[in-house]
Amino acid sequence: MSIKVAINGFGTIGKRVADAVDAQDDMEIVGVTKTGPSFGCDLAVKKGFPLYCTFDEPERIARFAEQGYECHGGLSDLLAIADVVVDCAPGKMGAENLSKYQNAGVKFMFQGGEKHALTGLSYTSSANHAENLNAQGTRVVSCNTTGLSRTLVPLYEHCGSLKVECTMIRRAADPGDSKKGPINAIKPVLKVPSHHGPDVMTVKPEIEINSLAVAVPTTIMHLHSIIADLPEGHGLTTDSILAMWRQTPRVIIMHGEHNRITTTAEVMEMARDIGRKWGDLHEIFVWEDGVELIGNRLYYFQAIHQESDVIPENVDCIRALMGTEPDWRASVAKTDAAISAYYNC
Ligand code: NAD
Repeated sequence: MSIKVAINGFGTIGKRVADAVDAQDDMEIVGVTKTGPSFGCDLAVKKGFPLYCTFDEPERIARFAEQGYECHGGLSDLLAIADVVVDCAPGKMGAENLSKYQNAGVKFMFQGGEKHALTGLSYTSSANHAENLNAQGTRVVSCNTTGLSRTLVPLYEHCGSLKVECTMIRRAADPGDSKKGPINAIKPVLKVPSHHGPDVMTVKPEIEINSLAVAVPTTIMHLHSIIADLPEGHGLTTDSILAMWRQTPRVIIMHGEHNRITTTAEVMEMARDIGRKWGDLHEIFVWEDGVELIGNRLYYFQAIHQESDVIPENVDCIRALMGTEPDWRASVAKTDAAISAYYNC
């Protein structure tokens, strides 16, 4: 059976999820929505993804044809042929869209711009795939929370407890975004602690974590500065933690000095060399020479490609909701192999 996937909101995240789904042999894109005709429709047409309107009003649907695009109908028409809808609308539109999904009786997934309370369930592949099996709906957590989860969950599973303080140094805007800032300032998030760290507890409540956040004038990557307190008797060393992360899916460890990869600019240049579309980096990047365990306290930095680390998680999450792959590691391996083959990289 091929899982029929609808994408509601074909923007930064939506177009990437659509490609990643298209790469898999157990699921297919049955349609993507745009709010109206725009350059983004061309990509859907080029990929052969049926185009739908985000809304059902006939006059809005008609606008697509006026600009030369074939529109197959409104959101209701798309939901009627889908098993699961991946909501990739801008954050905080979830409540409005949720009722549409519930009325259509379709499974649904939101993104990290929505609060956990919307669905009462959240998702990352390594933390709680099993908890999401066969659920009606969930939320794939944000790029930052996904990144924290990737490196902290294996540490927690080894240690049995973990206390974490971290600072998110956040990109001000995505490269394709002209509305956000700052462009010449450093902007602390004055809501303390920030929501990013505590959001990890929606997928792994056992990890005690708090965070601060700062927005800086860059469009490429978030950087996390992390301090984790391990319990007595953890039995780990800096080298064994690095070895653990090397075995962890979707984590890349590289020596900054030896590889001359000391800033997020070089990390993204390396990502472009990998050859995925849009220069994406699905993996979390950890600088080997920036990891140090001193006593029970672990220090490290990691970089997050905000537009893409959640993309393979969305694919795994579809399998969780549909109950087609109970083993998260098997899903991750399948997802990543298919994406690599799709882009020949
Ligand atoms: P985006 O603005 O790039 O794309 C959103 C798309 O949804 C646009 O095409 C927009 O026209 C469309 N849209 C507008 N109103 C809609 C509605 N009512 N219903 C459906 N679609 C609608 O936004 P994005 O960056 O792709 O973010 C989508 C979600 O993913 C948000 O929850 C965001 O917080 C989350 N997210 C974003 C990033 C990132 O770095 N961009 C990373 C992780 C998670």
